[in-house]
Amino acid sequence: MADFDYESLLDRARDNIPQELSSSERWKLPEPDVMIEGSQTIIRNFGDIIDMMDRDGNHVYHFLQNELGTSGSREDRRVLLKGRIPPKRIREKLGNYVKTFILCGQCNAPDTRFIKEDRTTLLKCQACGATRPVRL
Ligand SMILES: [Zn+2]
Repeated sequence: MADFDYESLLDRARDNIPQELSSSERWKLPEPDVMIEGSQTIIRNFGDIIDMMDRDGNHVYHFLQNELGTSGSREDRRVLLKGRIPPKRIREKLGNYVKTFILCGQCNAPDTRFIKEDRTTLLKCQACGATRPVRL
């Protein structure tokens, strides 16, 4: 847990946000609590992370599995993944999830919801009203 790439990723994201619109300033995901045990990797605070994301836990879980190219299982508040996965990669992938499925494309606010329009799913921002298509 000695490196802070996840943190610098968020810092970089913040740098691109116009100052007055930066509501993600106060919104921060908990640092993933990753433990490697034998040949599996456990995210011990997955429940806290999805609470903060306010997203369907299974969607986040499946995204992680796909991105990391592994399988695993979900238990209550924890996720177990096969293989020894460096915590840095898990932080990276969670950061990607946030950029792809949470932050508004216009103002970068995290207060967004999925809405259905015809057959497309849109990410709608509660702060500025902007929408952008997302592929779930
Ligand atoms: Zn917005």
